[in-house]
Amino acid sequence: MALVNEHYLKLAGGYLFPEIARRIEAYAVANPQTAGRIIHCGIGDVTEPLPAAAIAAIHTAADELGRRETFRGYGPGNGYEFIRNSIVEHDFHGHGLDIDASEVFLSDGSKGDCGHVLEILGPGNLVAVTDPVYPVYVDTNVMVGNTGPANDAGGYDGLVYLPCTPDNGFVPEPPADRVDLVYLCFPNNPTGSMITREQLRAWVQWAIHHDAIILYDVAYQAYITEDGLPRSIYEIDGARRCAIEFHSFSKNGGFTGLRCGYTVCPKTVEATTRDGTRVALHDLWLRRWNTRSNGVSYPVQRAAEALYSPEGTQQVARLVEHYLANARLLRQACEALRWPVWGGVNAPYVWVACPDGLSSWDMFDRMLSRANVVVVPGRGFGRRGEGFFRISAFNSRENVQEVVHRLKTFAAVRT
Ligand SMILES: *Cc1c(COP(=O)(O)O)cnc(C)c1O
Repeated sequence: MALVNEHYLKLAGGYLFPEIARRIEAYAVANPQTAGRIIHCGIGDVTEPLPAAAIAAIHTAADELGRRETFRGYGPGNGYEFIRNSIVEHDFHGHGLDIDASEVFLSDGSKGDCGHVLEILGPGNLVAVTDPVYPVYVDTNVMVGNTGPANDAGGYDGLVYLPCTPDNGFVPEPPADRVDLVYLCFPNNPTGSMITREQLRAWVQWAIHHDAIILYDVAYQAYITEDGLPRSIYEIDGARRCAIEFHSFSKNGGFTGLRCGYTVCPKTVEATTRDGTRVALHDLWLRRWNTRSNGVSYPVQRAAEALYSPEGTQQVARLVEHYLANARLLRQACEALRWPVWGGVNAPYVWVACPDGLSSWDMFDRMLSRANVVVVPGRGFGRRGEGFFRISAFNSRENVQEVVHRLKTFAAVRT
């Protein structure tokens, strides 16, 4: 009989969003008269339509594929040069950062790559994640066997959890003990926190000193509004030696359904064999792509390229500003209720301490039943998410204004 990958059986807790969906469904069945009022501020998915420049590029590309003279079949596994050149020109060279187009790997989104990267890293790495954390980093490490079983603390044995709390502004310091891989995400999902240049420098220095690798997720890069904050880890000296960076077009260009992102793997990032030979990860990553993939669909690559055009850039800026303005409204509404609140300034997420000492799932239930607003309980992102909840700013303005209104009445009704 075929054997299963038993590491999957450790994924006991299940995924957070199915549990949220279950509770919404149960509420809707019990309360059919108000079910239609529910506003979703839960899952981090964009709501506004794609930028016109991207749509135009898809149409043009489709027409090209429809004519013999301009037809294209398989493209390079790591993406066409036209998009990789646009990426390095606008996202790196334009900011004085030294990244070559050959170090950019186009993908169907960065969620996948955050897990795929484990394929080129050996078993037995000691892995650190923040707590709370984007669950993908944890679950993909469970799946490849980098952890022990789930434990009573709500985490997994064998993983190093870096507490993110109000005391450290939800930005962890490097661990004192040995760690081989660490996932960092700034601007952060779920807390909306942002790391300073000095803090990121400390991480890079730590990684170089310990020969560790930082897996740096900048899916929310476009939401950085405050000056002086690092938009890429490669702004820090030495990062080319120790960091792989994950980018996505999902949250800036609204590509959550279209699917495109990219990963930067500098040629200078190395890991070691068991006998101490240093190996450039770039070679392995390129090999991995060329073996496993024929790349991203051509029209989607053209759509991503269009985001860098003058019109595309403007349209993306408008989208991001729309969500950031939503975030400001949500943040202000919480502040007006004197709920301690973080994020929402350099990120589309507002992170709130539950009032009245409620647990995060109790707060979820209360928001659902009293305000008909879906939030995400912080507990779903880790043990240290307990006592907090996340409100997503990915919504129409109308919905956000309605949520702001309901929050006021919500707080007026106490039981
Ligand atoms: C949304 C998100 C991504 C991007 O995922 P895609 O697969 O590119 O859509 C990556 N990391 C985090 C933390 C996210 O929230």
